[in-house]
Amino acid sequence: MKRQNVRKALLVIFILSLPITMFYLSPVLTLQGAARGIVTSSLLFVGLSALLAFFAGRIFCGWICPGGAVQEALFSANDRRLKGGRYDLIKYGIAALWLAALVILFIRAGGILSVDPLFGIPGGLSLGTPLSYMMFYIAMGGMVFLSLALGRRPFCRYGCLLAPFMIAGKTAAGKLRLPHLHLEAESEKCIDCRLCTKNCPMSLDVNRMVRDENMASPECISCGACVDVCPKKVLSFAFFSRKKTEEKPGENPN
Ligand code: SF4
Ligand code: SF4
Repeated sequence: MKRQNVRKALLVIFILSLPITMFYLSPVLTLQGAARGIVTSSLLFVGLSALLAFFAGRIFCGWICPGGAVQEALFSANDRRLKGGRYDLIKYGIAALWLAALVILFIRAGGILSVDPLFGIPGGLSLGTPLSYMMFYIAMGGMVFLSLALGRRPFCRYGCLLAPFMIAGKTAAGKLRLPHLHLEAESEKCIDCRLCTKNCPMSLDVNRMVRDENMASPECISCGACVDVCPKKVLSFAFFSRKKTEEKPGENPN
């Protein structure tokens, strides 16, 4: 479980870093920048996160994202497993609307006029003005409310508009059969104890994925919890593919 301790320690550090980092990930700031023809750090981050996912899946969600960390910290209050299926598609609708608004705002501003990573982040600190504190409390309050009401990482599963871009990156790597970080399983060793399913923070039915011999899920955040908890060492991470896998958004076992 050493790896999970490291992961949880990193998540705590990234929660504590929120007052500095929050607006570097803000989709609202991205739109405000687009309205003035400015590429913000948050827009650059969307591209970088998709690129990272191309090589390493949604490792950002599992190991770095402060929003994911806040939700995981609330597992002790409510760790109910979430329903997937068509609910997973909500985030694609949100991302499509955001992308359409972004394009329209850039067109109305006359295109991309400049790049300013510190746009809307005076002095490089996210929290500094009363408005920024208000946005911080609204965002955190929303995450806490959703987690307490629904269970495991509901914002990651249903509402995060970054997730579809990362899923696009990891799906492209899978489709092109290029080397990328992914899960593999030796299903014949599985004893169906379901510990992997019980411990998956994204509510995936990992045991079923093992039995179906398809470990590719767009919702997997490469956290490694299933790998570390399996008593029979059925699961492992790999970079080069040994087995054929197929990702289908909105069709996740859970
Ligand atoms: S399937 Fe495994 S690696 Fe993926 S999110 Fe679930 S526990 Fe983490
Ligand atoms: S934890 Fe391992 S042995 Fe248990 S169900 Fe999952 S893959 Fe099978």
